[in-house]
Amino acid sequence: MAETGPSTNQSMSQSKGQSTATLRLKVGDLSIAHPITVPSGPVAATAVLPALQGLVNAVVEAAETGRTISCRKGCGACCRQLVPVSRTEGEALLALVEAMPRERRKAVRARFAAAAATITAAGLAERGTRSDREMSVAYFALGVPCPFLEEESCSIHPDRPLVCREYLVTSPAELCAGPRQEGVTPVPVPKLSLAARRLQDESETWFPLALLMAWSRTARMPAKRRPGTEWVQRFLRGLTRSAPPAPDSVS
Ligand code: SF4
Ligand code: SF4
Repeated sequence: MAETGPSTNQSMSQSKGQSTATLRLKVGDLSIAHPITVPSGPVAATAVLPALQGLVNAVVEAAETGRTISCRKGCGACCRQLVPVSRTEGEALLALVEAMPRERRKAVRARFAAAAATITAAGLAERGTRSDREMSVAYFALGVPCPFLEEESCSIHPDRPLVCREYLVTSPAELCAGPRQEGVTPVPVPKLSLAARRLQDESETWFPLALLMAWSRTARMPAKRRPGTEWVQRFLRGLTRSAPPAPDSVS
């Protein structure tokens, strides 16, 4: 993210409680101009997540250009990696699970419980003194499928975390199952998801997605409400700040 230089145009238009602007970002070698629409009034950070997802999709699409991507539906080895998610995304995913039909919700919750039990038994529910790399390798070795993985495909694809959108490879898919992903060649997608982790004033900026339900039971500061445009400004400021500590292998 060293060359990140985000800027927005100065003409933000407002209509029917929504504010629209074109974000002009220079991230790495990519230059992106992307329209973004967010609520004008005070909202929770989750309310601007759809706009950030659209922005990440646009950045990923630009990064993919001219490359042959190996990723396909039904190819889910990467969905056993440690997936770091922020509070904002955690809250949105919790709401997603709560809105599922009862039987599906029950099945998803059961998979989260099984994943949490395995991760906890392995001593990986806490980061401890491990380096991020050690944590990622140990986690992947557990082979715990993401609780949202069904038939080796993401069952929440339109709502998947930002970091999942940013991870795609050009190397053969079979390499992704290797214990250290040797030979895996990720597309160099600028990690906007890191900025999303800084949206809220949390000391812990991420937790493993598979521990979502356990995380939901932890004490947190009350969620703040801010105008949508202010959340976007915080996100843009986060792009220019140094990356927070986080695992380097994420799906
Ligand atoms: S990252 Fe690897 S395992 Fe995941 S979808 Fe792409 S090719 Fe398949
Ligand atoms: S949320 Fe979807 S894409 Fe991300 S790790 Fe889970 S199953 Fe895979």
